[in-house]
Amino acid sequence: MAKLKKLEDFREEIDQCVKCGACRAHCPVFGAEKHEGRVARGKIALADALLNGEVEMEDRFLLDMSQCLLCGSCYTQCPNKVPTEEIVAATRRRIAEKKGLSTFGKGVATVLKHQGLMDLLAKSGGALSGLLFKKLPEDSGLRLRFPAPFISSDRTLPPLTGKPFRERCPEIIHGKKGQPTVLFFTGCGINYMYPEVGEALLKVLKFIGVTVIIPKDQVCCGLPAVSAGATETVESLAEKNLTALGRHQYDWIVTACASCLAGLGKIYPGMGEEFSDYSLKVKDIFVFLVEQGFTEQLAALPKAANRQRVTYHDPCHLRTRGIIEEPRQILKALPQVDYVEMEEAGTCCGFGGTYSVYHYDTSKKIGAKKAGFIAESGAELVATDCPGCIMQLQDSINHADGKQRAVHILELVAEALPD
Ligand code: SF4
Ligand code: SF4
Repeated sequence: MAKLKKLEDFREEIDQCVKCGACRAHCPVFGAEKHEGRVARGKIALADALLNGEVEMEDRFLLDMSQCLLCGSCYTQCPNKVPTEEIVAATRRRIAEKKGLSTFGKGVATVLKHQGLMDLLAKSGGALSGLLFKKLPEDSGLRLRFPAPFISSDRTLPPLTGKPFRERCPEIIHGKKGQPTVLFFTGCGINYMYPEVGEALLKVLKFIGVTVIIPKDQVCCGLPAVSAGATETVESLAEKNLTALGRHQYDWIVTACASCLAGLGKIYPGMGEEFSDYSLKVKDIFVFLVEQGFTEQLAALPKAANRQRVTYHDPCHLRTRGIIEEPRQILKALPQVDYVEMEEAGTCCGFGGTYSVYHYDTSKKIGAKKAGFIAESGAELVATDCPGCIMQLQDSINHADGKQRAVHILELVAEALPD
């Protein structure tokens, strides 16, 4: 049975915080809000006080605990490697146990647990998009026509697809003999909002000849439910994925979403023995492609006459796992790309899953900084490796009246390959 860790299980890690404050300068929320309760050591002190029965779950406490992107930036800078994002997530689970989930959290949990409902919402959203949304110029997303609960009307959204990605492709696509077999864990962002990224991935994998399995019955990795503190939803989704993935034989699981990589590669292995394999088997698509020698194959393609200036944004869930060079290697090898590095490419974009819904104003402040760096780089496109980041980057660019577009690296790779 999948079981998430409880707050008590982090006692030792909590005690390792020496209150040095080295995390302060690296917390995007602290950078935007300049408030001690927003920074890692403040949250760890509150989690400690909760465990010791020295604090009540009052409004101030709830606000401080909700003000975290779970980005892990503090962890990478911490001399004692205190996993603040895991401690905050465990504290949110404790809050939900005592006080119940928030209204939005309940909605997230209900939708994620019922795949049929998710399919239905996506399809209805796709069918009614003309009525519900207005199209933005430059093809840079949609905005709601009418007020909707929890979504700000000035937020840019990607169109929902009328036909989810997993309904567009067969469950198994056979490759060349002697090549590995990979299982593609699509995640919800690609399945419902960016199916073109899934199609790009299939084109790339077909080019190198690997066999691809796309289990129809895979479900959300559960990361949005982790962020909401919805323990039972995360555990039930993990169980369903264990069954869905367990029906197949494969060499690697690949993801094209940094959050799914964190869900399967980091959260699941902590939920029980039966998931321990995942930390070894799951790979980000660009790590896989670099290992397969794909960079050299790309570099051998003839250089394009029409080139685009492209920069890269590091999704937190890749950067904090040390996946920094591989996406850049692929981008730099593309025949139609002139790569430029932007300042603070590794700073969080401000999305943070449910964070950007609860704290859209702070999320926008963090995104505005990122949009400024994108503009200063002179890039026409900002490429990344996470649907959540694409959504947030495009929203931030639109708020800054920028002309750049946010894309997935795979879209550029697919564009460079012959049909
Ligand atoms: S979380 Fe780490 S970096 Fe931050 S105050 Fe504690 S020990 Fe220092
Ligand atoms: S996980 Fe990110 S947002 Fe949360 S305290 Fe650490 S650096 Fe700040």
